[in-house]
Amino acid sequence: RQSEALVPFDGTGRLSDGHEVALLANIGGVKDAAAAVDANAQGVGLFRTEFLFLGRDTEPSVEEQVSDYRAVFAAFPGKKVVLRTLDAGADKPLAFLTNDDEPNPALGIRGYRTSLEKRQVLVNQLRAIQTAREAENADVWVMAPMIATADEAADFVGLCREAGLPTNGVMIEVPSAALTAAHIFATADFVSLGTNDLTQYTMAADRQLGSLSALNDPWQPAVLQLVQHVGQAGRAAVSTEAGAGSAPGVDGGTATASASAATGKPVGVCGEAAADPALAVVLVGLGVTTLSMTSRAIQAVSTVLRSVTLDEAQTIAAAVVAAPTAADARRIAREHLPILETLG
Ligand code: PEP
Ligand code: MG
Repeated sequence: RQSEALVPFDGTGRLSDGHEVALLANIGGVKDAAAAVDANAQGVGLFRTEFLFLGRDTEPSVEEQVSDYRAVFAAFPGKKVVLRTLDAGADKPLAFLTNDDEPNPALGIRGYRTSLEKRQVLVNQLRAIQTAREAENADVWVMAPMIATADEAADFVGLCREAGLPTNGVMIEVPSAALTAAHIFATADFVSLGTNDLTQYTMAADRQLGSLSALNDPWQPAVLQLVQHVGQAGRAAVSTEAGAGSAPGVDGGTATASASAATGKPVGVCGEAAADPALAVVLVGLGVTTLSMTSRAIQAVSTVLRSVTLDEAQTIAAAVVAAPTAADARRIAREHLPILETLG
């Protein structure tokens, strides 16, 4: 049993019935990229680009950005890299972009919202991503952080298309975005749930305050209900064949769109929740199609996913999401997943 639990991740995440769940890495630059390659990650589910901007007084030039992005893309030939555009503000202040005298920075001009005032920074970043993508012939997906409405999603996707980028989506980390996911899918090719912020905003509990950690818990049933809602919207969305260069999803139902409608659109999770092996099973049962995490967590998550079928994951998820408390949710999942005992 023990040795069975330690079978190394073989490069494809799947459940015991063969249902595939891509296991991807969260990275913040080239150094993390090497760790992700060593961990056999299937690609990158969250490339946090703000690390290229932080600690600077001025915006990096497009040329500098191109060279940084190329270095990361080159580490994943033939593999998907989901790049998040600049997420400045709140816990990630940036001298040239964010305002440090807002009364509530977590609720202020942060993430995508910085582009409402300083659009050119985002336009420049998208141009750099597109140049790097073409130079490396990379499978790059782009997403915006802190999207709150379907209008914002449409605006971002429009900017990406103008830059020539083929696969464009948004992060779902604000409850309003989770609740309106069906409308967001009208333009977004995919979404990725940022459960760190989604938990913070659902529970109204600052993620940086350790004293609120019981509230800041992705096992909170309210958070999981939002994940379930997004999973259902993803399954119902008409696929735009993300990854292959896509047309808008509101084009009147072309033959291509209807042929792939059954597959829905990708719904990822790239917050810390994806690195919790028991929660990973629940997320998949709620309709999540890809999981992105710190490279260190990939093996344990892969092991636990391999112990259940999709049917079982869905049964566990249904019980967990209906639990009255986070503690009950955890206990229910543990009771159904004896393999967790072997992980130590
Ligand atoms: C999240 O909010 O879950 C997320 C992945 O983004 P970050 O932690 O960088 O805010
Ligand atoms: Mg976030």
